[in-house]
Amino acid sequence: MDISCPRCGEREDLSGRRDGDVIHLTCGACEHTWPRDLAAKCPVCGGADLQTVPLAIVEKSRGTQLSIVGTRPIDLCSQCDGDKLAKYHRNRPNPLMPDELPTVGKITDA
Ligand SMILES: [Zn+2]
Ligand SMILES: [Zn+2]
Repeated sequence: MDISCPRCGEREDLSGRRDGDVIHLTCGACEHTWPRDLAAKCPVCGGADLQTVPLAIVEKSRGTQLSIVGTRPIDLCSQCDGDKLAKYHRNRPNPLMPDELPTVGKITDA
């Protein structure tokens, strides 16, 4: 299984605590904690080859600026979400940007 910390990418120093169908993983390097669903399967192809990546939570701040206010872990399928995974790995350690960004206000020249 390919598990790495969604925050810092650590692969070795991870510990897990099982809670029902979910494992709560803790990264020893940055102390980030995130849940991993044991039963996680791709809803499209049913494959179990999922990677958990951080998805940016984006909010519109003042004017036309978008700012990342946090991340949440999402599972991407290596079969169905290959392009998103590739995009994420290109931009690491930045989080994946969501497909739909909040509408940016019209840019008007003052
Ligand atoms: Zn970490
Ligand atoms: Zn899939």
